[in-house]
Amino acid sequence: MTITSVNPATSETLKTYKPLTKDQTIDAIAKADTAYRSWRETSFDHRKKVMLKFADHLRQHADEYSRLITLDMGKRISESQYEIEYCANIAEFYANGAESFLADQPMDVEGANAYLQYAPLGVLMGVMPWNFPFYQVVRFATPNIMAGNTVMVKHASNVPQCAEAIANAFADCGLPDGVYTNLFIPSEFVEVIVSDSRVQGISLTGSEKAGAAVAELAGKNLKRSVLELGGNDPFIVLEDPDLDQTVELAVQGRMVNAGQSCVASKRFIVVESVADEFLSAFKEKMGNMKLGDPMDEDTTLAPLSTEQAAVKLQEQVQASIDAGATVVLGGDRPDREGAFFNPTILTGITPEMPTFDQELFGPVASVYVVKDEEEAIELANRSSYGLGGSVYTKDINRARRVAERVETGMMFVNQPTKSQAELPFGGIKNSGYGRELSHLGILEFVNKKLIHLG
Ligand code: NAP
Repeated sequence: MTITSVNPATSETLKTYKPLTKDQTIDAIAKADTAYRSWRETSFDHRKKVMLKFADHLRQHADEYSRLITLDMGKRISESQYEIEYCANIAEFYANGAESFLADQPMDVEGANAYLQYAPLGVLMGVMPWNFPFYQVVRFATPNIMAGNTVMVKHASNVPQCAEAIANAFADCGLPDGVYTNLFIPSEFVEVIVSDSRVQGISLTGSEKAGAAVAELAGKNLKRSVLELGGNDPFIVLEDPDLDQTVELAVQGRMVNAGQSCVASKRFIVVESVADEFLSAFKEKMGNMKLGDPMDEDTTLAPLSTEQAAVKLQEQVQASIDAGATVVLGGDRPDREGAFFNPTILTGITPEMPTFDQELFGPVASVYVVKDEEEAIELANRSSYGLGGSVYTKDINRARRVAERVETGMMFVNQPTKSQAELPFGGIKNSGYGRELSHLGILEFVNKKLIHLG
C-alpha cells in the first residue's frame, strides 16, 4: 500500500509516500508519550510563544501551503489562501486564550475550599478528513497542544503533502519532537493506537461510517472521543427576506469548497410564496459558475477531491432522478479531464427517495417548497443529521423562534453556517458529538479535576 497525492484537476500523480509499519506506529506512540511527560510541565507562556510562531509561520508560507492544498485536493486557490489565514487565526486564538480558558475554577462549597483544575490528559489521536486539510488538523491540534497534551494525526490518505507540511511547520517553530506526530498509516492501524493504554482519547472528523467505527473502538477501549461528522444543513427561506441577497448567500452556502463542506447549505427549504422567484434566481446564479483549473483565479467552481468522489455523487444524483426527482440544472459531469461535476439543482425530492437523507458532498442543491414556517421546521428536522442550519427573514423574533426549534448544533440567521475560532462548532444526532473551537474546544480532552483543600 502507498499513500499518494493525485491532482484532481488533471488526474496526475504528484507524490507517493510509504506508510509506517505497525512497529513504527507503536514506536511513535512511545515517543508521543515521552514527549507528553515534559510538554505538560511547560508553562502557558512557553506554549504560547511556540503557537504564535506557528501562526506567523503559516502566514509567511501561505502561498506555498495554499498551493499544496489545491494540488492535493483541488480547491480554488483563493479558498486555500483563506484556509491558511484562518488557521493562523485559530492558532492565535488558542495561543492567547488557553491560559484563561484553563484557569483554575474556584468551587462555591459551603464550609470548604475547593477548586477545579483543568489538567492535560496525555497522548491524543486525531483522524482527519481531506476537505479542509490544514484547518481540520489545526482545529484539533492547537487547543490540545496548548492544553499540554500531545497529538498524533492520521490524515486522509489523499492529502499527504498537506499532512507532511503541517508536521514540518510545527517542528520548524520549535515544537519538541513527539508533541505533534504525523502518521502515514492505513485506517486499520487506528485500532492499534486507540487500544494502546498510553493513548487517552480520539477525535475524528469525517463520515458517519468512519465515526461509528472509531466510536466503537473508543467505547471498547474506554477512551474519550469527539466526533465531527457529516451534515445536511437546512437553508430556510421565509416570506420576507431580501431575496437577492438570500440567493447570493444560497450560492455561497452551497458552493463553498465545491460543495464539499460538512456545513455547506444542502437543503433549501423555501416557503411557496417566494419559491418561484428564489428558484429562478438561484438557477441563474448557479448556472453562471465557471468550472476550471483551481489554480486560476477566474475559476468559480473547482473539481471534487477525487475521481471516486465525483463518481459517488453522480450515482447519488442519478438515484434521485431515477426515483422521480426533477433536474432544474446540471445533474451530470462535464466532458473534460478531472473530477469535475456540473452545478446542479434538484427539486421534487421526497422522503421516500434514498437521497432525501443522504449528504450530497458536491455542487448539488436540493430545493424543497413548503407551505409555511411550521412545515419548514418540520422538514428541516426530518433528517438524521443535526450539524448546522440557517434561516432567512427580516423578522428577528421569528428567526430566533425558528432557530431555536431546528434540531442542530448551530443555527445562523441571514447567513449560512460558518466556522470562526471564537464560536463552538459541532453537531447532534448522526452529525456527532462534542465541540471544537471556542473555549469549549479546549475542554474536550482535559481532566476536569476536583482539588478539595478541606
Ligand atoms: P472519511 O472517509 O470518513 O475519512 C475521514 C478520515 O477517517 C480519513 O482520515 C480516513 O482515512 C479515516 N477513516 C475512514 N474509515 C476509517 C475507519 N474505519 N477507521 C478509522 N479511520 C477511518 O471522510 P472523508 O470522505 O474524508 O470526509 C468527508 C466527510 O467528513 C463528510 O461526511 C463531511 O461532512 C465530514 N466532515 C465533517 C466535519 C465536521 O466538522 N462535522 C468537517 C469536515 C468534514 P482514509 O483517507 O485513509 O480512508
